[in-house]
Amino acid sequence: MSLFEPLLDAIFAARCVGCDVPLPRGGERTDEARAFCELCAATCNEPEPGCLVCGQELVALFGAVSRGPCGACLAKPPPFRSAHWGYEYGGAVQDAIKRLKFGGREDVAGPLVRAAFRGADVGEGWDAIVPVPLHWWRLARRGFNQATALAHALSGVTRAPVATSWLRRKRATAPQSRLPESQRDANVRGAFEVTRRDKVRGRALLLVDDVVTTCATTWECARVLRRAGAASVDVWSVARTLA
Ligand SMILES: [Zn+2]
Ligand SMILES: [Zn+2]
Repeated sequence: MSLFEPLLDAIFAARCVGCDVPLPRGGERTDEARAFCELCAATCNEPEPGCLVCGQELVALFGAVSRGPCGACLAKPPPFRSAHWGYEYGGAVQDAIKRLKFGGREDVAGPLVRAAFRGADVGEGWDAIVPVPLHWWRLARRGFNQATALAHALSGVTRAPVATSWLRRKRATAPQSRLPESQRDANVRGAFEVTRRDKVRGRALLLVDDVVTTCATTWECARVLRRAGAASVDVWSVARTLA
């Protein structure tokens, strides 16, 4: 147990991020148990290990899954180097993200990120964490960007600074989750621009979002960041919706 854990407990771990029941205190607990009560934790599913680039689950060939890029990534390499997510979207993870996003519960971000981020899988060594930006209009309505809240929580784990002014959403887009798959690429195409090319150039970046639905949004963000000269872009989200 680190020196800070009792302090973190006092600040953050008072209530379950999924259902708000008080959590038991003390004892040796995992990051997941510091975020979720037992009932909620039982609904949290970690994704199966997948494609080394996009994270999509791989189809087992001859009973064994080989770790490598999937067929889609080999055919059309994504602009990001890797993509990881902590959980499948659903159950208490979905509840926690909704409370963060629509309930204004920014305090959910810290314990949720510590539970969802498994650094050993995701890697390290980023120069900056870039949250997927909201359009200013949506930001004004909601009051905060959930991806930024998650990025700040992740910064506490990875020690990489958060960069909120390097990437901008220049037009509002319909939520990807409400569109059929065929319209999702077009919906976000050209929606983002790099505002600080001088900062982005040569940097290893970690792009962060709350939920990845298809990779269309992260694909587009990573594309403009790479085009502006970023050395690499890795993608991390709390959750991923399964097709
Ligand atoms: Zn709970
Ligand atoms: Zn892939």
